[in-house]
Amino acid sequence: MHTTPAWSWGQKGHRIIAKIAYDNLTKKARKAVDKTLGEKGAIYWANWPDEIKSDTIYPTSYDWHFQDFDGGLSDSIVADALIHYPKEGGNLFRALDSLVAEKEKGVHTLRFIVHLSGDRYCPMHTAHMDDRGGNDVKMQWFRENTRLHTVWDERLIESQGYSYTEYAEKLEIEYSARKKEILAMSDTELLLHNYHLTEAIYAYQQTWDGNTYHYIYRWRQPMEEQLYIAGIRLAKVLNEIYK
Ligand SMILES: [Zn+2]
Repeated sequence: MHTTPAWSWGQKGHRIIAKIAYDNLTKKARKAVDKTLGEKGAIYWANWPDEIKSDTIYPTSYDWHFQDFDGGLSDSIVADALIHYPKEGGNLFRALDSLVAEKEKGVHTLRFIVHLSGDRYCPMHTAHMDDRGGNDVKMQWFRENTRLHTVWDERLIESQGYSYTEYAEKLEIEYSARKKEILAMSDTELLLHNYHLTEAIYAYQQTWDGNTYHYIYRWRQPMEEQLYIAGIRLAKVLNEIYK
């Protein structure tokens, strides 16, 4: 169970994902999302599920934000988590599936779908159980003490210095040629991609020289790809809900 405040893509990450998704909604889906979420809209509410973790509205929602795995698992065992939700290591897949399956999606349900669809593609949210999703892996970011989980939720994104709008627009330009391919991928393929990325991040930890610039140089692109995938797949989910 995660007990530190680092829960998910940081606020900026969730806003970037929500903006990419919103930009890729059909007219009909956009209208429905606007109507449900009100004037402030999807980007504003993208972080609400992190804010209410200590509230009593959804007392069990703390473990909806991650689905941790042991290291070194076979692809078939990882893929099985989408069908037979694991009993341990979080409830992200089960929660997201049941929210999407709700017949009438109210305001809270929709806010959770927007948020959790982002966490789903955050590598440290499919990370190892024994270190609480990288929360116990200490590392230095420039001269500051931090944790692997936080580096992926926040530090890497912040290192680029963009606003969420600038970042979303940059990624939409850079990845537009890959949009079709990402839309066509199955949930299983995307989960395995995510898991293998997480494993590579852990492996890098063993050989990294501790230089933050080297870390950013190695991982910026994979991190950005995950943000884009999350945004496009969230658009797909919402376009299917409101078709
Ligand atoms: Zn979260």
